[in-house]
Amino acid sequence: MRYSEALEQAVKEIKEDLPGMKLLENEPMSEHTSFKIGGSVRAIAVPSDIFSLSRICVRLQMNGVAPFFLGNGTNILIPDEGLNIFVISTEKLQKMFLQEDGCIYAEAGVPLGTLSQFAQQNGLSGLEFASGIPGTVGGAILMNAGAYGGEMKDVVRSVVSLYLPDQALYELPAEKCGFAYRHSIFEDGRSLIAAAVFQLQPGNPEEIQAKMRDLNTRRREKQPLNLPSAGSAFKRPADGHASALIDKAGLRGFSVGGAQVSEKHAGFVVNTGTATYEDVVALLKEVRKVVQEKFHVVLDPEIRIYPHNMVLLDDAINQSAKDIHKAVEEMKTRMRGEDA
Ligand SMILES: Cc1cc2nc3c(=O)[nH]c(=O)nc-3n(C[C@H](O)[C@H](O)[C@H](O)COP(=O)(O)OP(=O)(O)OC[C@H]3O[C@@H](n4cnc5c(N)ncnc54)[C@H](O)[C@@H]3O)c2cc1C
Repeated sequence: MRYSEALEQAVKEIKEDLPGMKLLENEPMSEHTSFKIGGSVRAIAVPSDIFSLSRICVRLQMNGVAPFFLGNGTNILIPDEGLNIFVISTEKLQKMFLQEDGCIYAEAGVPLGTLSQFAQQNGLSGLEFASGIPGTVGGAILMNAGAYGGEMKDVVRSVVSLYLPDQALYELPAEKCGFAYRHSIFEDGRSLIAAAVFQLQPGNPEEIQAKMRDLNTRRREKQPLNLPSAGSAFKRPADGHASALIDKAGLRGFSVGGAQVSEKHAGFVVNTGTATYEDVVALLKEVRKVVQEKFHVVLDPEIRIYPHNMVLLDDAINQSAKDIHKAVEEMKTRMRGEDA
């Protein structure tokens, strides 16, 4: 069966299997991304629990269709002509509670702002850095999001993931998640981050609140939050900051079509209103070229550009496919040992 027929068959089966579930068909991704760029995808399913989500994944797998997982869409760039793909949004996966051991359990769709606020209300410190990052738990774990000296890897104790090749849920301890700078083993796209457990430190709620307020004020002062973007366009190179190099190269304000290196923060690419996918990609390529010519530094994109095989692919994504397979195999061996 051709891919497009298999996708249609999967959509049909999922509609029959989960008739009450929210399913948006031929939906423009510009409505679901902070860049406000992106054409239609075939469907976006919004399951309200992990069981429905797992049923969707089984139907997709039976038809040989790989799902695309969507959090808040704050770190992705989708082509204007759209993609013939099946998207699963974690928007409704919002369960969150304090465990008896004092850790926080949060499902993938919980926004980082909500998670940080919940931690603050429970007198738990460690997530202040994340309170202004506009993504979800799932998206942030995938790329080990970070800010102001903190990273997800500092606060995650374990990640519950649905590993698609097995269609099974595994709870991977943080040390098996391959967290590194803006990287985790989940980047290969073969597993859904369903939930995570966060281990934090006791703290004074007022002090935690004050720290969050301070960091968010700094964010508002420095970042172009009034224009659509996907956050920092490039990862930090080994030496220094991408924004400083871009600035030194004289590229602040440089634009291609409606895409512009932000005047306010040279590390951000903003959509001034009419930016297309091609504009952003051309701009990123030019910035990368000029910085490489001037400073011999190769900038890797932090924004995840789709489809992956087209442009500026980060080698780390290729490596993560091997790493996650190894981590799951180790978990299985351990579980078999514990069962015996
Ligand atoms: C104004 C602004 C400021 C930002 N500031 C920061 C910052 O300070 N620090 C920082 O690190 N980032 C920052 N970002 C980038 C972005 O918010 C983070 O990368 C965030 O973690 C992305 O989460 P998301 O839910 O939006 O993911 P999405 O953009 O929806 O997805 C990103 C990737 O994760 C995958 N994904 C999403 N959810 C899941 C899941 N449950 N399971 C498996 N894969 C999944 C997607 O397929 C995609 O590959 C900023 C962005 C903006 C627009």
